[in-house]
Amino acid sequence: MEYVSTRDKSRKVSASYAIANGIAPDGGLYCPTSFPALTAEDWHALANLDYKGRSALVLGKFLTDFSGEELADYAAKAYADDKFGGADTAPVVALGGGKHMLELWHGPTCAFKDMALQMLPHLLTASLRKTGETRTACILVATSGDTGKAALDGFHDVEGTKIMVYYPVDGVSPMQKLQMVTQEGKNVEVVAIRGNFDDAQSAVKRIFTDETVREGLDKDGMMLSSANSINWGRLAPQIAYYISAYCDMVKNGAVKMGGKINICVPTGNFGNILAAYIAKQMGLPVNKLICASNRNNVLTDFFKKGGSYDKNRDFYTTTSPSMDILISSNLERLLFFASDYDDKLVAALMEQLAKGGSYQVAADVFAKIESDFDAGCCDDAAATQTIRELWENEHYLCDTHTAVAVRVYEDYRARTGDTTPAVIASTASPFKFCRSVIEALGGTLEKDDVSQLDVLTGLTGVPAPAPLAALAGKTPRFDRVVDKTDILSTVGLLRDL
Ligand SMILES: *Cc1c(COP(=O)(O)O)cnc(C)c1O
Repeated sequence: MEYVSTRDKSRKVSASYAIANGIAPDGGLYCPTSFPALTAEDWHALANLDYKGRSALVLGKFLTDFSGEELADYAAKAYADDKFGGADTAPVVALGGGKHMLELWHGPTCAFKDMALQMLPHLLTASLRKTGETRTACILVATSGDTGKAALDGFHDVEGTKIMVYYPVDGVSPMQKLQMVTQEGKNVEVVAIRGNFDDAQSAVKRIFTDETVREGLDKDGMMLSSANSINWGRLAPQIAYYISAYCDMVKNGAVKMGGKINICVPTGNFGNILAAYIAKQMGLPVNKLICASNRNNVLTDFFKKGGSYDKNRDFYTTTSPSMDILISSNLERLLFFASDYDDKLVAALMEQLAKGGSYQVAADVFAKIESDFDAGCCDDAAATQTIRELWENEHYLCDTHTAVAVRVYEDYRARTGDTTPAVIASTASPFKFCRSVIEALGGTLEKDDVSQLDVLTGLTGVPAPAPLAALAGKTPRFDRVVDKTDILSTVGLLRDL
């Protein structure tokens, strides 16, 4: 399996090269040049495997320069039972109205990012070895909350790596902040940036594109690397859980083998839903992929307004902060696939996006996109109402991001009459966003600290996940706050790790 950049497909690289380098030199994202098909034999094998085995099988289709033994070993370590609260790594919970909640938050940081970021350190360190890289990989992460902690947890004390996380002071929940600033490990650093997520992301991009910084690090035996979902090693591990959910649903009789499902995903950077799209291209029987957004509904407009993408609009801080994004990076990969790998076209669109903040996709390309996707959005009030109704009517507790997906799915079902069983990606534990969930249930919160876990448990009887409860005993280690204009000054911190 070969990989090319979305903006220049003339140079083909291996999976390990793509993972080791993160982003292509032309600024494009690495993509496979074809989609491997799941055979009848594969489906038979998948049905009888546990999550670790399913993950290794699906990854093996894409990472052909890794052996089956390597991938099985990584999957066993990444999804170890003691990290995911048991062997059911990504359980599916059936609710009324055709909803099948795919719970992706049983990992160490209680959000779906763990599904990829527990795997990525294994893939990345092996990729560095396979490509002959001897420098220390310095992972820089801009986070809207969940990626930062998941990356810190995945990479802490991993040999040959250092990790520095930047989060927007105004953009993360108190629980997310506490999770990050209490991170243990010798090779970790956490910095707050004054501004929102897009500010943090642009600031980190400045470090990546600064030649002097790169040369300086190189002299000291270090190189920059990324754990954001632009890295193929982040995206590839996410494909398996949609396939796994289908196998579970077939086993439970929720769908017949070969029967179609819908998949609804609460979306920010477009990584998680793109993984579902790729699963469909491999043969997963999917009718519609439903893209759910919060009030930052740039993607809803893209799908509803004939492929017109326009980030020139107000940015809102919402109760689902991990979806507060106006530039959905992974949409670039969808454009590449839907245009039959037209690198010139993608490069031109991305240049328009960089210069003017908008672009329009040609009608023939958009027609292909439209056949696979539907989309919708909802505001904080609708998400709040959904959390309350889901609890009152079905006794199911969900977080603010998942609530957006549930609401958008229900709107879709009412609008279209499509009753195909739906997998809804549940992307975070409700305990990560306590304040909003407690308020949705009619409770009140006095203190924005770890005690809020007990308040939510008191209201619902649902126990808090162990990794969050453990935060109570931890002391903050990081309190640095910098202006985005001073970001380059933080690079020196890497040397001291
Ligand atoms: C990151 C995140 C999302 C958005 O996922 P993308 O892959 O960026 O679309 C949704 N919900 C939660 C809880 C997240 O952490």
